[in-house]
Amino acid sequence: MPKFYFSIIDDTDDATLENIKPVYDFLYSKGILISKTVWVYPPLDEPSSGDCLQRDKYADYIKLLKQRGYEIGLHNVGSADYDSPYTREKILAGLDFFEQRLGFKPTICVNHSYNPDSVYGGYKRFNPLMAAVVKKMYKQYGRTFYGEVEGSPYFWGDKYKELFKYSRNHECGTLQTTRYDRFMPYIDPKRSKFANYWYSATFAPNPDVFNHVISDKALKRLERRGGCCVLFTHLGYYYKNGKLNQGFVERIEKLVANPNCISMPVTQTLDAIADARAAVGKEKYPTISSFAKFRLEILHLLTRIKYRYFVKLDDYAFKDLKAEMFVK
Ligand SMILES: [Zn+2]
Repeated sequence: MPKFYFSIIDDTDDATLENIKPVYDFLYSKGILISKTVWVYPPLDEPSSGDCLQRDKYADYIKLLKQRGYEIGLHNVGSADYDSPYTREKILAGLDFFEQRLGFKPTICVNHSYNPDSVYGGYKRFNPLMAAVVKKMYKQYGRTFYGEVEGSPYFWGDKYKELFKYSRNHECGTLQTTRYDRFMPYIDPKRSKFANYWYSATFAPNPDVFNHVISDKALKRLERRGGCCVLFTHLGYYYKNGKLNQGFVERIEKLVANPNCISMPVTQTLDAIADARAAVGKEKYPTISSFAKFRLEILHLLTRIKYRYFVKLDDYAFKDLKAEMFVK
């Protein structure tokens, strides 16, 4: 049986020391090493919430995670919006604070939803034709993102490119991310001035989707074919009322029961894919064609539509459910 890779890029929304520690301690006990994003500053916008590096106990735990082999990255320096945005000065100060507090620099970054300082954020992830469709579908994208726009007060693309090797773009509904995106990590010529290499991720924003996408069938397929899963989620939602999500625990246990499962943080996983490609004489970082990018874009949107309107497990459904539970 071939080896296969499993990694997670963890979006820090709503993550606190209290809800994240049990999740990471469990993953560590199982030998699953992944990438965690953090915020430097407390969220500026409503209703975002979650811990940041200003809380000492949380920052100390993040340091411990790094020592244990986890990759620590950014989810922008904090959660913001157009009413209370982060400007370049505050972002650069935040990067300094990160390094001073933790003793190392962040190595990966994922844009947070509506931060004006997002780099190639929102609809800008798509080429013009699909970008127009996305703008229509998501009204929140009425305003633009400026992280890579030189001269904008929110510009930090130069620092972004210097610090981060890999940027996440498209998302898919299949567990084997590399079956959807055969190019990752790739160069996107339209997004290379202020970013290096791009990868895709398996869409699993909450434990309901996580448990749906890691079905026995999908897992067997991933194991049989080899390949790689880089899964995008919010691990802040996996520990509730003193308990880890049972489906999550079962799936992680199934994964680690397979000796062919290799688990490393996202940057190391993508490095391994690129190295393996180079080892057989292929281009280490291929340049994606407009057509191949278009295919990723279409499938990305179809995945979002499927989870919003058909499977109904995405954050729209998940958070509504939470709200209902609070009312009761
Ligand atoms: Zn987020």
